[in-house]
Amino acid sequence: MATKFSHYDVIVIGSGIGGLVTATQLVAKGAKVLVLESYLIPGGSAGYFTREDYVFDVGASMIFGFGEQGTTNLLTKALDAVGQTLPTIPDPVQIHYHLPDQRQLKVHYDYEKYLQELVSLFPNESQGIRGFYDECRYIFDCLNQIELLSLEDPRYVARVFWQKPLACLGLAKYLPQNVNNLVARHIRDPLLKKFIDLECYCWSVMPAARTPAINAGMVFSDRHYGGVRYPQGGVGQIAQKLVAGLLKFGGEIRYRSRVNKILLENKRAVGVKLTTGEEYFARRIVSNATRWDTFDKLLPTEAKPRQEIRWQQRYKKSPSFVSLHLGVDANVIPKNCECHHVLLEEWQNMEKSLGTIFVSIPTLLDPNLAPPEHHIIHTFTPSYISEWQNLTPHQYQARKELVSGQIIERLEKIFPGLSAGLDFQEVGTPRTHRRFLNRIDGTYGAVANQRLFGLLGMPFNRTAIQHLYCVGDSTFPGQGLNAVAFSGMSCSHRIAGDLGFR
Ligand SMILES: Cc1cc2nc3c(=O)[nH]c(=O)nc-3n(C[C@H](O)[C@H](O)[C@H](O)COP(=O)(O)OP(=O)(O)OC[C@H]3O[C@@H](n4cnc5c(N)ncnc54)[C@H](O)[C@@H]3O)c2cc1C
Repeated sequence: MATKFSHYDVIVIGSGIGGLVTATQLVAKGAKVLVLESYLIPGGSAGYFTREDYVFDVGASMIFGFGEQGTTNLLTKALDAVGQTLPTIPDPVQIHYHLPDQRQLKVHYDYEKYLQELVSLFPNESQGIRGFYDECRYIFDCLNQIELLSLEDPRYVARVFWQKPLACLGLAKYLPQNVNNLVARHIRDPLLKKFIDLECYCWSVMPAARTPAINAGMVFSDRHYGGVRYPQGGVGQIAQKLVAGLLKFGGEIRYRSRVNKILLENKRAVGVKLTTGEEYFARRIVSNATRWDTFDKLLPTEAKPRQEIRWQQRYKKSPSFVSLHLGVDANVIPKNCECHHVLLEEWQNMEKSLGTIFVSIPTLLDPNLAPPEHHIIHTFTPSYISEWQNLTPHQYQARKELVSGQIIERLEKIFPGLSAGLDFQEVGTPRTHRRFLNRIDGTYGAVANQRLFGLLGMPFNRTAIQHLYCVGDSTFPGQGLNAVAFSGMSCSHRIAGDLGFR
């Protein structure tokens, strides 16, 4: 029997932040863990790459979870569990919004300053604005009192309920709600409602009606509490540090190791097979690939559980992105410029392909990521894989040039002289995201296909296949580094319980 050759307690497929948090939490508890990563370095969507003297973040750059207090600072906690620390640079403004009709707004770390700025745009809604964001804060305050572990562990659920009954009841009330339920209680102005849609869209890629209230409570409040912080040396440092911690505690990681099969025995996951033909066995298997990749590619069709078929009916793949990684002369960046910007010229384009543009200039916080007198502008906008398929290499190149030219032209509004000040440019498309991140269609994650009840439809870590778990952004509670760290904490907690590592 293959299982008797198990060398590991747990194998984790993929070294995204979800996979690495699972692995590091488990080694810290004494488990023998192997991480298999198909790429050359760890981090996945939170990885990095270097070109000339620039260090570019692959994706994520607005990072929550590095706060010093409370229970929701999960990146700080994950690093600490394996003896690692990472200096971070606080960002005084989460986003500088450039809205239709020349309106502008900055989301300051200071809560009151932000509310005042928003009220000055919508003076008739001063009560509604405070009511809405205060309710988000209430959700966050409930979350931030309880230890965030696996809701699949009844003993843990009973314990937190016993310790913090009011916080738990508060959260239970919001679990089935979406942000539009909160909006309906507080806000009347149709334009302000559109702005709240954009506030949600910026991280959930969904409007308020399909964004879970709990996630919004977290994002709309933690930005004024733990705040947004940029890791010194770039976002890639988070994964590098987690790997250092994994190795320090006796874990293993292998790069260039692409899993193409999860091995089953008597309907239980017992191991994995790599594209090289090598097989590894363990008592538990964790997939950090998306749920679509896990169940449609790594397992035989007949093994796909009914629960996953139903989940795929409720949730669809979000769009991917066109990403421009730009190196620019320093004089392109205006004085007192903020690090993160969102540009939307027409409200009706918010959800459209290439509609909303996201910008990050990490060198404003850590200048060492670019050569002297230069900055990085990382900008991305939603786009679907279907727009980039069935093209000849020449057509693909031409489309990349066309779309990047359009994005740069639109960004001239914020950065006059951008095209003349370009020093370096690299374009990524949904095909790039699919290829380098191993994500089906290059998707950013799972979005509700229909109006769902808040977070209740998102699956947890255990799957219907025994001994197989999922972790990462297509699992509860969704996208974002702090969210996948939560997923990793929960997954490791459940596995530790199942294997007796407490
Ligand atoms: C452009 C962009 C901007 C973003 N901005 C932000 C932001 O500002 N703030 C924020 O918090 N979040 C942001 N995000 C989201 C955040 O990056 C993701 O939600 C998060 O990093 C996902 O982590 P994960 O662990 O689920 O998986 P991933 O990061 O996708 O990692 C999965 C890993 O598994 C590996 N893998 C997959 N299949 C296999 C296989 N078969 N064999 C071996 N290895 C495999 C992959 O190579 C990859 O390394 C952004 C994402 C993108 C794309």
